[in-house]
Amino acid sequence: MRYVVVGLHAAGRSACLWLRKVDKTAEVIGLDPSPLPIYSRPLISYVLAGEMTSRDMVVAGDGFWQERGITVLGDRAVALDPARGGLQLASGRSLAYDRLLLACGARPRPVNLEGPMAEQVCFFRGRRDLERILGRVRPGGAAAVLGGGLVGFKLTMGFLKRGMRVALIVTSPRPLSLNVDAHVGNWVGERLKNTPGVTLLTSTSVRRVEAGSAAALRLDLDTGQSLEVDIVAAGKGVIPETGWLSGSGLECDYGVVADQFLRTEDERVYVAGDLAQAPDLIHGDRRVNAIWPVAVEQGRVAALNMAGIKATYGGSMAMNAIPVFGSKMISVGVVNPSLTKGCDEITTQGAGSGYLKLVFREERLIGAVGLDAPPRLGELAFAIRRRLRRRDIPSWWLDNPKQAAPLAAPGGFLARNARLT
Ligand SMILES: Cc1cc2nc3c(=O)[nH]c(=O)nc-3n(C[C@H](O)[C@H](O)[C@H](O)COP(=O)(O)OP(=O)(O)OC[C@H]3O[C@@H](n4cnc5c(N)ncnc54)[C@H](O)[C@@H]3O)c2cc1C
Repeated sequence: MRYVVVGLHAAGRSACLWLRKVDKTAEVIGLDPSPLPIYSRPLISYVLAGEMTSRDMVVAGDGFWQERGITVLGDRAVALDPARGGLQLASGRSLAYDRLLLACGARPRPVNLEGPMAEQVCFFRGRRDLERILGRVRPGGAAAVLGGGLVGFKLTMGFLKRGMRVALIVTSPRPLSLNVDAHVGNWVGERLKNTPGVTLLTSTSVRRVEAGSAAALRLDLDTGQSLEVDIVAAGKGVIPETGWLSGSGLECDYGVVADQFLRTEDERVYVAGDLAQAPDLIHGDRRVNAIWPVAVEQGRVAALNMAGIKATYGGSMAMNAIPVFGSKMISVGVVNPSLTKGCDEITTQGAGSGYLKLVFREERLIGAVGLDAPPRLGELAFAIRRRLRRRDIPSWWLDNPKQAAPLAAPGGFLARNARLT
């Protein structure tokens, strides 16, 4: 049996680990043009902020592959022919497989700007992007960040920590509009506005990128304003790496479509991670939830199925916990206001700054967003997976919404029923 894994990051590495765990003798070949060792992609923002070194990001050194007898090829897959069970590689080589995992992730969404300097816009996906950005960081200089999601926020904080002034340019009326509710988004927006060195421009887009006179670049905005900056970086989401699969006959919608076993239309080909349009726990359809723990879990489930051990994927959901201006911001499940219209909500504002909103659809918990809220992300995620009903939340808690803390207190309802071990 020969397993081939295309892409060796969160999903691919997890799959290799599990393939070897359950099949000690099979040939396992991993393919990735990016140099090893594998690092934690989310940590590049901490390196930008100077809080970690590049070395701290490493999650799997050379030993990981050698100890497990996994062959790693520094090559790129450029075409797939499922009927023949073969891959075409950039080096010109062909590679046959018995079972194939597609785990080649996603790339930054392009920004499509006009102007002669548009290609100077940096993205923030991997180590190379980090190095490119670090090479342009200039303490005392000015940066612009396009996109008010989590990556845009992390870029802003990173440039600020490096001593730069930052203009955060957001097309929505507030930052984090897709990640949290209006209350938390506005709170973050106010904090950003009051942070020395940050200019928050909401409901604003960049039109053109020209050469600057006082700094390297000039950004022309749709408001008629212009900004001169030393560096511009974009964090406007990602798109799955489906391009090279166009001739494969596999169903590619937004990502590569997978069933509950993470299998594609071809029974020998599986998919995991940011590339996979797989069952979504809350919506019940197939979506890409591009986060690290989803990629790792999908890699595990796909590997088991590839090895003939039936494993059903329970469905993914969005989940994030990040420190924001000294507060702990969490969001899990569906909280985006445009997707929660008509849903029931319970909102608590604790005695301190603690804020928690629980979102229910047809009585079931489908999302939660919190700011210094007592429940932990894992507890809330578990409660969503357990399909917690609104009526099962004890009335003493609903009657005293200012007392959010007992929800997760030792021995409290959620702690007893939904604590992850
Ligand atoms: C700045 C930043 C911050 C983030 N923060 C968080 C966070 O806080 N929490 C969180 O959960 N997630 C976060 N993420 C998202 C997380 O990193 C991704 O969800 C995760 O990396 C997805 O893993 P993956 O293995 O599916 O794909 P990827 O990480 O994209 O890896 C895909 C691999 O496939 C390789 N590849 C691509 N095409 C080919 C090909 N044709 N042939 C062979 N190999 C190929 C690539 O070189 C790459 O190594 C963050 C991401 C970024 C960029």
